[in-house]
Amino acid sequence: MHPPEPDEFELSLFGPGTGEGLVIHLGGGDWMVVDSCLNSDRTKAIAIEYLDSLGVDVAAAVKLVIATHWHDDHIQGLAQILQYAHNARFVCSAALRNEDFCRLVKSAQHINLIESSSGTEEFTGILDILLRQREQTGPDYWAQDRMQLLKEDRIQITALSPSSQVVTDSHILRTKFLPDVGGTRNRIPAVRPNDTSIVLLVETRTMNYLLGSDMEQGKNARYGWKAILESRAAMPFGPGATYKAAHHGSENADHDGIWKKLLLQNPYAFLTPFAKGSKPLPAPGDIARINDYTALGYITAWPPTKKARSLNKTVDRTMNEVTLSRRALRKTPGHIRLRAPLDGVFQDIKVDLFRGARKLSAI
Ligand SMILES: [Zn+2]
Repeated sequence: MHPPEPDEFELSLFGPGTGEGLVIHLGGGDWMVVDSCLNSDRTKAIAIEYLDSLGVDVAAAVKLVIATHWHDDHIQGLAQILQYAHNARFVCSAALRNEDFCRLVKSAQHINLIESSSGTEEFTGILDILLRQREQTGPDYWAQDRMQLLKEDRIQITALSPSSQVVTDSHILRTKFLPDVGGTRNRIPAVRPNDTSIVLLVETRTMNYLLGSDMEQGKNARYGWKAILESRAAMPFGPGATYKAAHHGSENADHDGIWKKLLLQNPYAFLTPFAKGSKPLPAPGDIARINDYTALGYITAWPPTKKARSLNKTVDRTMNEVTLSRRALRKTPGHIRLRAPLDGVFQDIKVDLFRGARKLSAI
């Protein structure tokens, strides 16, 4: 594969059955990585493998690494990316800057993990790299709504969330990022990790791109997409030509206002599946709903699971007796690649699909 031209924007979305990572060319050979999943043999972050394959010097070229929120399917391999991307600023949701975070900095290795051990280990790895390589404690930016993360002549990147209310609440109620201590926390509802998501607006001079992370609708007007829509009414920005659909296309992360107010009509919509939960995402209803909004929907992998490999006849028979269907998680990340001239218009956008990525209207 050849790298994009210096004046060409690229947005590459990767996702196997469960996992999501974005690699974005900002122009002039500069790159940004948003979230992370692993490559097929699970030895490398997909962003590193992909940029290596393009001949990009990761240490020099990656300018921003953004962890939109702390869920396992978005952070695997993130520490490895930071290890190589010496030049990158690391961005984290401001909603994570609470007592738990400080406790993690102080005594990471002694924490008894509950919710997502690998997530906490990945964070510990990142803190360790920042400390050892850069003598720095914590991220470069704690992002929240309306915070500009990059401003250059031809491109700028702004966080549209988390809202101030979510940041405040995560200080009081904390997030479920770290385990409960002393059994007291369960009495207060914690801020959920998806609520802390950083939604990103990428603006070139001629087109906008909206990256929805796993942001949900919001339990009230000061949370989620509702808060973003409120804030946009006060400080408008142009509608997006392309949307990385929030939370794997799920209904609780969708809002009519996203399509009517934040996006052009019939925009490109990209998403990754999530196969690990009790209900895989997107559900058939989600696919139908997104297809109603746009004819240009794409997904990195489908179906999110595949037929399980046969073990041996006896084992197969026993397993088939006790489970209704036996499915294996996909490991190869599918790849949706969008390229357009940095100063291009909607008609200039070119989308290519690799390794099993599919058009949503065709499934
Ligand atoms: Zn997710």
